[in-house]
Amino acid sequence: VLLGLFVGVLTTLASGYILNMRLQPGREILSGIKRNQFYVVWQPVVESGKLRVTGAEALLRWKHPQAGAIPPDAFIGYAEAQDLIVPLTRHLFKLIAADATTLQTVLPPGAKLGVNIAPGHMHAPSFKDDVLRFLASLPHGYFQLVFEITERDMLKETEAASLFDWIHQQGIEIAIDDFGTGHSALIYLEKFTLDFLKIDRGFINAIGTETVTSPVLDAVLTLANKLNMTTVAEGVETPEQAKWLRARGVNYLQGYLFSYPLTVRELVIWQRNRVLP
Ligand code: C2E
Ligand code: CA
Ligand code: CA
Ligand code: CA
Repeated sequence: VLLGLFVGVLTTLASGYILNMRLQPGREILSGIKRNQFYVVWQPVVESGKLRVTGAEALLRWKHPQAGAIPPDAFIGYAEAQDLIVPLTRHLFKLIAADATTLQTVLPPGAKLGVNIAPGHMHAPSFKDDVLRFLASLPHGYFQLVFEITERDMLKETEAASLFDWIHQQGIEIAIDDFGTGHSALIYLEKFTLDFLKIDRGFINAIGTETVTSPVLDAVLTLANKLNMTTVAEGVETPEQAKWLRARGVNYLQGYLFSYPLTVRELVIWQRNRVLP
């Protein structure tokens, strides 16, 4: 609770700071890129049965000289609004590639690397070139990339379907992020070929705290099952939640119960000293 409060306060302070930047705010992000103020942390994803690590999600961080560590929620939307999502994501791709060699010592061949893709980038003219360059910068054939796209963003463009086909042709998988929080996107589940459903933290939170488990979560899991989709639960914090999700057939788990997001160096140490929860 305290940590949540702390992160909440930090987010508020950070967004306040961002909103208060009157002078060329765009330059802040660009100079942050130039000055190497952005870095990546990795959150392990485990398979729900034996809790074996099967991959990790890349999460961006900004270590700002005045505002300190700014969480992504405070600057991603802002970067999108300022047309800076393309340079920022290109930079993210470089940071991921720089971690790849060390990641290979921690993650097995075929491990899934989750990368959050902002819709503003997906629809940018340079998107395909950026992705091809990114692919070429990774160790050949070692990792399985998974692009995480939010449910909300799929609704915007029906041409997303051909883009998704192209992504698949490059051997990249697609996950719907924050599943269950969007609005009536269910119809799109049948139209698109999607590989993973990431069930939003909000639903996972409720497991174990309420006397009756969420009927929405029940429906989401039934639906995922019927559509033959692989499921990932995010925000798993307690052993009870993990147990419940495993019993309900959820395939992969991710959350503080297993690990906070870690720098690649911290990830090496975590892996070495890991004790199963
Ligand atoms: P997301 O994709 O849903 O990422 C999961 C968020 O949940 C992360 O927050 C992670 O630190 C947090 N989390 C993971 N496990 C737990 C848990 O057990 N309990 C709780 N309370 N939280 C947990 P983070 O890193 O602050 O990222 C927030 C959002 O910012 C992400 O949500 C994603 O939408 C966006 N984001 C992060 N990195 C990038 C990026 O490189 N590019 C883009 N476009 N968006 C990004
Ligand atoms: Ca994500
Ligand atoms: Ca998510
Ligand atoms: Ca989210």
